[in-house]
Amino acid sequence: MRARALWLAVIFFGNAGVISAQEPTALPQQWLTSKSTEGTFATSAGAMVEKQLRPRGIDDPRVLRAMGKVPRQKFIAKELEPSAYEDRPLPIGFGQTISQPFIVAFMTQALKPKPTDRVLEIGTGSGYQAAVLGELVAEVYTIEIVRPLAQRAATVLNALGYKNVLVKGGDGYKGWPEHAPFDAIIVTAAPDHVPQPLIDQLKEGGRMVIPVGKTYAQELQVLEKRGGVVRQTAAIPVKFVPLTRDPEKK
Ligand code: SAH
Repeated sequence: MRARALWLAVIFFGNAGVISAQEPTALPQQWLTSKSTEGTFATSAGAMVEKQLRPRGIDDPRVLRAMGKVPRQKFIAKELEPSAYEDRPLPIGFGQTISQPFIVAFMTQALKPKPTDRVLEIGTGSGYQAAVLGELVAEVYTIEIVRPLAQRAATVLNALGYKNVLVKGGDGYKGWPEHAPFDAIIVTAAPDHVPQPLIDQLKEGGRMVIPVGKTYAQELQVLEKRGGVVRQTAAIPVKFVPLTRDPEKK
């Protein structure tokens, strides 16, 4: 059993940087899954691994195990549950999406996650990617600019027992300096350039996976910092929602 940090799982920083655990959005009833359907979903996650991930080159056994374990249906609205393990992104409200399972697995594998790693995610969205990372590394720090999404993701992650995932509402462009440096950084919204603060917050030997490019047409870039030098390689073409900025924090 992996030791997990004893954190208060979820906190929020409002616009003024005030910590508040009680923002208004409660988890709507329709986001909760009935117990009776859980067996079906477990089978579906396993089928997703065999049909969508393994044949496309996802071969890290730890990543495959995490993808087969995290209940994707818990991170989407109840009416979308039948589609939870389909090979596509799904809407999560506020014009945002939960990524296609293959993209989550591909990015996670590219991060080369180790059990002792501390990882930063920019773009919490539903919290699904953070949960997958929570299965694989020691600590996950995740930032979401749409505060109600941050709140909802934190509630779901908390309910599922991911005590090693810390969610913050805010603009992730500047990273999370209080917890830097990170062994790995994953960005799940697309900027038109790699934010310098994120490069600065990457540990020596650290990896970053980030979609970079124009709106809805980007390349997934994999960066590695070695000897203070950053090596960048383009992996695959991807379509992510754009990385937006908090106007007051530009
Ligand atoms: N990783 C998510 C999917 C991300 S969708 C999941 O597993 O569900 C991209 C998310 O990035 C959106 O929720 C969007 O609001 C968020 N985002 C965009 N710009 C951001 C920024 N500057 N800082 C933090 N989050 C941002």
